[in-house]
Amino acid sequence: MCGIVGYIGKRKAYPILIKGLKRLEYRGYDSAGVALISDNQQLNVYKTKGKVSDLENFVTQKDISGIIGIAHTRWATHGEPCSANAHPHYSSSEKLALIHNGIIENYAVLKEKLQAKGYTFKSSTDTEVLVQLIEYIKVTNKVSLLAAVQLALGEVIGAYAIAVLDKEHPDEIIAARKSSPLVVGIGEDEFFLASDATPIVEYTDKVVYLEDGEIAVIHRGKELKVVDLNNVETTPEITKVELNLGQLEKGGYPHFMLKEIFEQPDCIRDCMRGRINVEANNVVLSAIIDYKERLLNAKRFIIVACGTSWHAGLIGKHLIESFCRIPVEVEYASEFRYRDPVIDEHDVVIALSQSGETADTLAAVDLAKSRGAFIYGICNAIGSSIPRATYTGSYIHVGPEIGVASTKAFTGQVTVLVMLALTLAKEKGTIGEEQYLTIVKELNHIPEKMKEVLKLNDTLAELSKTFTYAHNFIYLGRGYSYPVALEGALKLKEISYIHAEGIRLRK
Ligand code: GLU
Repeated sequence: MCGIVGYIGKRKAYPILIKGLKRLEYRGYDSAGVALISDNQQLNVYKTKGKVSDLENFVTQKDISGIIGIAHTRWATHGEPCSANAHPHYSSSEKLALIHNGIIENYAVLKEKLQAKGYTFKSSTDTEVLVQLIEYIKVTNKVSLLAAVQLALGEVIGAYAIAVLDKEHPDEIIAARKSSPLVVGIGEDEFFLASDATPIVEYTDKVVYLEDGEIAVIHRGKELKVVDLNNVETTPEITKVELNLGQLEKGGYPHFMLKEIFEQPDCIRDCMRGRINVEANNVVLSAIIDYKERLLNAKRFIIVACGTSWHAGLIGKHLIESFCRIPVEVEYASEFRYRDPVIDEHDVVIALSQSGETADTLAAVDLAKSRGAFIYGICNAIGSSIPRATYTGSYIHVGPEIGVASTKAFTGQVTVLVMLALTLAKEKGTIGEEQYLTIVKELNHIPEKMKEVLKLNDTLAELSKTFTYAHNFIYLGRGYSYPVALEGALKLKEISYIHAEGIRLRK
């Protein structure tokens, strides 16, 4: 996942863009870049391999003026991580600059076509092909940038979120999305653009989440215009973002992962808020109310997920099967989407994803939908692609997870799965009253119990000094704890690069 940021308004664009890129750093990247139309109407592109801070060093002494610009953090898919391959990419005339998140799958064919017309390329990316194609269409057909983008995207197979600047139109950014997220923020006489709302919340809480196939025409001093590839206009739906700035800062912790581990008692409380009624000893997930029959009569549930969410899904299987007596399969979304799974309208698919943007899980949702299955989403990022593609679902409400190794989202997913299984089991009559009440009561105590565990932090930090010399770790678990063992091993591998395995504990 790379990051896209854009700005057009009255303020200096550069500081807003850099701050925005820093907010998106959690998504991971290998290089960073920015394009600005300067006060003297030059289109300046600065980019470098490395961190956003390397980009800041790189631009010292350079012209960073301008009240319009786009910026990017790249996670290479085509071509090595290096400055030449970093975004933005210029077109041949250097009149256009483009940033892109995603993959242009048919870039090789398009590149050959352009090379035959005399175009040369400075990078080995798929992205540069797109900006050249847009310029070629714009020049040969003598059309506007918008029309050129529409025609070019009509030729493209793949996934993209893009933003384009045209030196000759310093009042406009054209942005488009297909299978990669893009959000437009609407301020007072200014607009923001980003891969998610985190770079935007500081300036405005009014956002428009672009849908697949939509193109945003962001023009200084005009209303936001949203059209599709055929120029059919739609009225943008403005959503209010609930994120606040405090949620995006480290709050005194040395890194986000630790902050998020410590946030868990509050997050799990938030996750259960309004869903568990302690007085009535009752759990209600409102998302299922209108779809009760469909869910209860399902032939089977299929949970699709990747990584940490897949581990939460394994716990979900255990819960739903034991409480609701409905068979559950847990599928790795990438395996599911790339074969021809047996699935029909009697199945319910639960899509689990923290970001709501996991490309394989989204593709699995589309596939299951095309076969008539009912789709339920369990995600964290509000307004992201998976919740918008599902029929109903439950947010886990644990706040933004910035740390790359997922922590609080895992416990939030498990909490929602427990509540889902309990709600369905109660409706179905497959759970005894006593067991139901015990679990509801215990759920309510989980935040306090988490606090107790977190008190062990210093002891664990001390112990880790000894264990740091080990080359292999084995996590053992049985039943519900087996997926937890897998998740523990994954966490250790992800953050320490020490080999670890989760293993089923036998009796
Ligand atoms: N496919 C493009 C590249 O390799 C974009 C990668 C990204 O999403 O950052 O440059």
